[in-house]
Amino acid sequence: MRNDLFDSHPVILPPVADDTAIDHAPLAIAPEFRRDPVTGRWVIVAPERSLRPMSLVHAEPHHRANAERVVCPFCPGQEYDTPNEVLAYRPAGTDRDGPDWRLRVVPNKFPATRPTRGDPGRTSGGLFERFAAAGRHEVVVECPEHLPNPAQLPDDQFRDVFRAYRDRLIDLADDHTLSYAAVFKNVGAEAGASLGHTHSQIVATPLVPDVIRLELGGSGDYHTAHGRCVFCDVLEQERADGSRVIGETERMVAIAPFAPQFAYEVWVLPKAHASRYEAATGAMIGELAALMKRVVQGLDRVLAAPAYNWYLHTAPLRSAELPQYHWHFEIIPRTARPAGLEWGFGCFVTAVTPERAAADLRAALN
Ligand SMILES: [Zn+2]
Ligand SMILES: [Zn+2]
Ligand SMILES: [Zn+2]
Repeated sequence: MRNDLFDSHPVILPPVADDTAIDHAPLAIAPEFRRDPVTGRWVIVAPERSLRPMSLVHAEPHHRANAERVVCPFCPGQEYDTPNEVLAYRPAGTDRDGPDWRLRVVPNKFPATRPTRGDPGRTSGGLFERFAAAGRHEVVVECPEHLPNPAQLPDDQFRDVFRAYRDRLIDLADDHTLSYAAVFKNVGAEAGASLGHTHSQIVATPLVPDVIRLELGGSGDYHTAHGRCVFCDVLEQERADGSRVIGETERMVAIAPFAPQFAYEVWVLPKAHASRYEAATGAMIGELAALMKRVVQGLDRVLAAPAYNWYLHTAPLRSAELPQYHWHFEIIPRTARPAGLEWGFGCFVTAVTPERAAADLRAALN
């Protein structure tokens, strides 16, 4: 059973029935997965992403761009500029792809992965294995207002973002060609955002990403040895000690991880064991959103509006509840540029202790 989960090899995909979901870009630049013949690592080569609009390219290093207003494809009135919505929170009686929405999820016009027709054409030329980057790449447009900073969203709209993640994961799980849905957010040019209108992304693929396979492997080994979830044990130790705890609600907790990759890195997790974000209740999502908002507001205060990413680590699509895995959000502010040691050897160096980071953020949390 575990081997199935850990298998990084892609499944061969059946034809996609819904032709309307197919974006007809020239085949020559269709995105593809390629496998590194030494490490087995999969990458995506997606030349058409170079065509996407960029309005944040001149942002200050480490900081967000100003909200310089060019024609924004995510603003109301520009709905024609995005593919048809796959989810929207809008009043009953309003038209699909019309205005009046509160939150909208649309396929990315410049996708890293996308639905393909027929066999994705896995080929190996000698050592070189490649196949069409089949999957979905969606954008969660978090609000109609042209806001660059998610912390400016009112509480109910901020909560809707986390509800939308869950709703999309549930829907994407119905597509049996997909194994994993990666949910992430880039805030600020330094963190990879290309448009100033606050949004998240979901990239669903037939592959389980390497980072998730590492976490599943490590937590699986721990569970085999101790019969417990390593995340649950970490939380128990952190809450008993307290020095790296940043804040908590009844069901959720935010900590500065013991071995961070970036200074002021934060993890937000449910206190009770849960491996599948899809199964999160409305109450949990409400508390998660409230705590995430306080954390990003705290980061804004302590680090003067840094660029950052947040992303969800959860079990693969259609998993049973896993006793060894525990979903969580990681938030990484761009407090330093990864350099030779990080890129070359995978070893991150941070100049601030997580104990100090937690103390600063605790003091800044309202
Ligand atoms: Zn906008
Ligand atoms: Zn757990
Ligand atoms: Zn993680």
